[in-house]
Amino acid sequence: MVSAEPEFLIFRGALVQAASDTRADYTPDGLVLVDPGRDRGGRILAIGPVETVAATYGLDPRALPTGERSNGGKDLWLPAFFDTHFHWVQDAVREMPKYSLIEWLNTITFPEEAKFADAAYAEERAASFWKQILSLGTVGGLCYSSPHEVALEAAFRHAPRDFYIGNVLMTMECPGYLQQNEADSIARVQRCAGRFGPRYVASPRFAPTTAPAVMRAAAEAAQAVNSFQQTHLGETLAEIDWVLGIYQTLPGFEDVSSYAEIYNRVGMLGEKTVLGHCLHLKPEEWELLADSGSRIASCPTSNAPVEQMGLGSGLFDYPTAEAYGIPWALASDIGGGPYLSMFDVMHSFVEQNRELSRQGATYTKALRRSTAMGAALMDLPNRGMLDRGASFDAIRVGMPEGTFQAGPAEPVLAALCQQVSDRKDYEELVLETFIRGESRFKREVKPCV
Ligand SMILES: [Zn+2]
Repeated sequence: MVSAEPEFLIFRGALVQAASDTRADYTPDGLVLVDPGRDRGGRILAIGPVETVAATYGLDPRALPTGERSNGGKDLWLPAFFDTHFHWVQDAVREMPKYSLIEWLNTITFPEEAKFADAAYAEERAASFWKQILSLGTVGGLCYSSPHEVALEAAFRHAPRDFYIGNVLMTMECPGYLQQNEADSIARVQRCAGRFGPRYVASPRFAPTTAPAVMRAAAEAAQAVNSFQQTHLGETLAEIDWVLGIYQTLPGFEDVSSYAEIYNRVGMLGEKTVLGHCLHLKPEEWELLADSGSRIASCPTSNAPVEQMGLGSGLFDYPTAEAYGIPWALASDIGGGPYLSMFDVMHSFVEQNRELSRQGATYTKALRRSTAMGAALMDLPNRGMLDRGASFDAIRVGMPEGTFQAGPAEPVLAALCQQVSDRKDYEELVLETFIRGESRFKREVKPCV
């Protein structure tokens, strides 16, 4: 990057972005001009092939950056990621062994979350976590914290502004060391909604651990400040049996026949509600989600088979979601998902759907659902896309080696996601991360010796 002209920032390299689920645009040698004014959102003033943009703006080609890396490789620019479902307080346990959802929660996840009652621990973890997520190219998303207010405060201190966060609400069917009483839980959600406003996410953990009165109060508190709500729905069959067994003994729910109907009865469904997983839904549940305008965060690495380090819960039926017109985006769900990089999530989405021979599960679609659709789920228009007028939310990576460099986009994206031999290596892919035109992470390049 150089500032050849004072009135804009200039970036050069190959450009790729998913304009839709079925179309990605690819420019082998592109130029992006960005308005440097932070108050104006770091908007893209011009984007396209180098010659076209340079000619339009009267730029001297000799004064432009080369788009070449010091090691001889080329830069490749992509829109930055939005991760619509993850638990920042589970970062330490994301690679732990998983056998079943409920066992994993009780033996590994809940004890880790309990540590976040300690303000010093929460602060230390928050400082490193939010740095780490920017190094992976994720610039916004919807996030679950532990039940504790000190952990939520620490997260808000360190998270960039397009991360929306909520403390999980747990008032029953959970270990005593995490359980709150209903009155305290309601008071906390009301207080936090007031303190953090639209960035607060009312987050009943899920119906089995959160009393109906608490879910109802949380929904009202969220609606009062126009903030989002999030919870889990239909992740595993054992969980669904458990939930219905609990609710069929509760007054007002004796006749409840589906998991989604519970959320419907407490007033939680709606356009500002993002439901995680949604793997095992009955037709009437799909209809409830569609009619209410609810949205879905799908977490393929978390739902993947146990041998792929997931919880073995199943695979999201995105064709049905799309047939109902339900908006959905991809998400990492760490710690259920083992890795925080959205490249890992994209790759798992493509691989698992291809094994089922589902049509249309391309890297193009995976990119779209990890960037602009993630932002759209959060009501953030013109974000996570490399378009004129959009904010420059972008990541710079090295162009993978191969013979596809002239495009089209799909083989370039496939090569990018398939080049690692170990899934941990996705954590090294991003060289630089920009949010609204501002560089927020830059990888130190080790000199070749
Ligand atoms: Zn989750």
